[in-house]
Amino acid sequence: MAAAASRTNLLGLDRGQLAAWLGERGEQPYKARQLLRWIHRKHERDFERMHDLSAKLRATLAAEATLETPPLTETSVAADATRKHLYDVGGGSVEAVWIPEAKRATLCVSSQAGCALACTFCLTGKQGFAKNLSSAQIMGQYHHALQDAGTVSNVVFMGMGEPLLNLEQVVPALRLLTDDLACGLSRRRVTVSTAGVVPGIERLAAEAPVALAVSLHAPVDELRSELVPLNRRYPLRDLLRACRGYLKAAPRDFITFEYVLLDRVNDDLALARDTARLLAKTPGKVNLIPFNPFPGAPYQAPSRNRVMAFRDELNARGVVATVRRQRGDDILAACGQLAGKVAGRVPAAGRIATPIIPAP
Ligand code: SAH
Repeated sequence: MAAAASRTNLLGLDRGQLAAWLGERGEQPYKARQLLRWIHRKHERDFERMHDLSAKLRATLAAEATLETPPLTETSVAADATRKHLYDVGGGSVEAVWIPEAKRATLCVSSQAGCALACTFCLTGKQGFAKNLSSAQIMGQYHHALQDAGTVSNVVFMGMGEPLLNLEQVVPALRLLTDDLACGLSRRRVTVSTAGVVPGIERLAAEAPVALAVSLHAPVDELRSELVPLNRRYPLRDLLRACRGYLKAAPRDFITFEYVLLDRVNDDLALARDTARLLAKTPGKVNLIPFNPFPGAPYQAPSRNRVMAFRDELNARGVVATVRRQRGDDILAACGQLAGKVAGRVPAAGRIATPIIPAP
């Protein structure tokens, strides 16, 4: 029997990879279809119970494969029923957030522990980069959250990390999420969010086109470079061109542009007008996210009035803009508040979180 470390975690292999893995072991590649169903539809974790596979294949699987989700460290539940899970990914920890809404349940997954991009308003960015997650660790977040909550209708790559800087692992995960034999989510219900990695946008279009969200945050290069240092490498012109190119492959006919509103930094109405002008030739919707504070953050959220005025200015100029509802902020589960386990984290003042549920 192979040592655990040398076994392949099949949870992260997409259909093609699984077929190749089986082929290397003298098995018929089409058996990947049966295996995908067992793993991702029936959630079977014991190879012996996969009764329609041959005894020989079951023995190979038992000796050379595993099906492992990353160990759960803790779960917190917010007053609004949002659930945040912390996982140990070896050399770091990451969080996934399950967000129930009236007609859907969205899971926000992490693709990296930490992040190298150092956006000034993001707590994950403050941590620096720790490691890329494997596709199995990404799929593990999905499977665990699905078992925990019973339903996941949408998956967004808006947790920790920059997914387009880990495409080697993110692409197989996207393929599994959208494979009819595996998780079977529609490509419109899986969204990758990027700070603007232009070559990654092009590769995503070719390899796993799902819905795309782009973190815009400012319509002019000078300000955007200050907030999102990556802008110095891929300025707005190149980014918008990549977005228009993406639409040819995308399952939706628009790009979502996220815009974190920072009080008196990027929420001036003149910037709303610049944003409308910038997006004039790129079909998009703007999702405004009032800044979610974290201890030591150099920014504040704008007043409700300023947020609404910014939204109205965009709408008046023909750009569809909505304000993202804040979810799970009492357990530091809102956008930009994910950091895994770091010293000195405290929940937002004046809010009461339900007690943390220790892992079983
Ligand atoms: N790296 C990717 C995905 C992770 S961030 C990206 O940048 O898009 C997901 C979203 O949360 C991004 O739009 C990000 O800009 C936003 N965000 C980060 N910090 C935030 C904060 N403190 N308040 C509100 N939104 C924040």
